[in-house]
Amino acid sequence: MRAAVVGGGVAGAALAWRLRTAGADVTVYAPGAADASGASGGLVRGFEVDGGAARDAAESLAELRADDLVRDWAGYRETGSVYVTADDVTPSVAAVEAVLPGSASVVDGAELARRFGFRDLPADAAGVVERHAGHFSPDRFREHALRWLAGHGGDVRTERVAEVLPGPAVRTSAGVTAFDAVVVAAGAWTPRLVGGEPLRAKQIQYGLYRLPIPCAASFVDDRTGLYGRPDRDGAFLLGMGCDRWDVDPDGVTPDHDLAARVLDTARRRFGVAGGEVVADRVVASFDCYRSPGGLRLVDAGGGVSTFTGGSGGAAKTVLAASRRAAAELVAS
Ligand SMILES: Cc1cc2nc3c(=O)[nH]c(=O)nc-3n(C[C@H](O)[C@H](O)[C@H](O)COP(=O)(O)OP(=O)(O)OC[C@H]3O[C@@H](n4cnc5c(N)ncnc54)[C@H](O)[C@@H]3O)c2cc1C
Repeated sequence: MRAAVVGGGVAGAALAWRLRTAGADVTVYAPGAADASGASGGLVRGFEVDGGAARDAAESLAELRADDLVRDWAGYRETGSVYVTADDVTPSVAAVEAVLPGSASVVDGAELARRFGFRDLPADAAGVVERHAGHFSPDRFREHALRWLAGHGGDVRTERVAEVLPGPAVRTSAGVTAFDAVVVAAGAWTPRLVGGEPLRAKQIQYGLYRLPIPCAASFVDDRTGLYGRPDRDGAFLLGMGCDRWDVDPDGVTPDHDLAARVLDTARRRFGVAGGEVVADRVVASFDCYRSPGGLRLVDAGGGVSTFTGGSGGAAKTVLAASRRAAAELVAS
């Protein structure tokens, strides 16, 4: 099978690596622009409120922890994680426990305050605490995967794909090349290359803050939308959802009002005063969304598929999702 993967972010690189491992002839088009994988915070945990997403995230995390090669490529660091929510967590905790036994436990608001420093939580808030969770570098992972591919018979090209054609084929400055399968894994640029699917590019942003947050784990607080993790030198990486939709991935600018709201929300949630954004450390990037979200192969017709995030959190599911997508393609 001759497969082309358009895009060398973490999704495209992981899929190309899986396809080559499965014996396919793979060409990946990876022009190397600033992308979501280069900006990503790389938080990984097993728990997601949605049960299907929890299964993919937990399977990915289990592979990340168990496979020495993948762990090294990814630069994985285990810090633990806490997810604050008032939703029913039972099915998703069971999905995590099936793959990572002994990792996840459910705690109440009092324990969230005592162990992690959360303040003013609603009465119905509970937390899912995971021992086996942390963060990795999607950028480092894709660099290693592409290097592996180049050294193992894959064709890693730096041309930008100008057009994806049914057949399927791709057109670049070097001409038109036909393949058995073409997968567009171009993140927020995917809607430009493939019409028909309801894909949208959305801004994602986080900042580095100096704020004395008494929480040693990565966290998500779905009551406020605040998420974060400790970074180096006592700084905290913090973010909240951004409402800038249909952004141009080549022209994203920081949303400074959002950066200020994040600081204010973190002060209130952890009952701490003061703090500031570390100078020049607001990272504004983007990702590809669809509803329902989730990184998976979607048939776009004519032998072309897309493989893109759909949720703003594909780093945590990419290992399981790329394994499934490669198996689907090879079997087709
Ligand atoms: C700021 C930020 C923080 C995040 N934090 C987390 C987190 O903590 N945990 C988590 O799980 N997820 C997180 N995410 C989400 C996750 O990082 C992304 O879902 C993931 O990196 C998307 O990877 P991708 O390969 O789909 O897209 P990208 O990384 O954007 O890669 C797309 C690639 O396609 C290439 N391309 C585009 N057009 C063409 C073309 N015409 N021809 C050839 N190539 C092309 C681009 O050059 C690019 O390299 C975060 C994202 C951002 C932006």
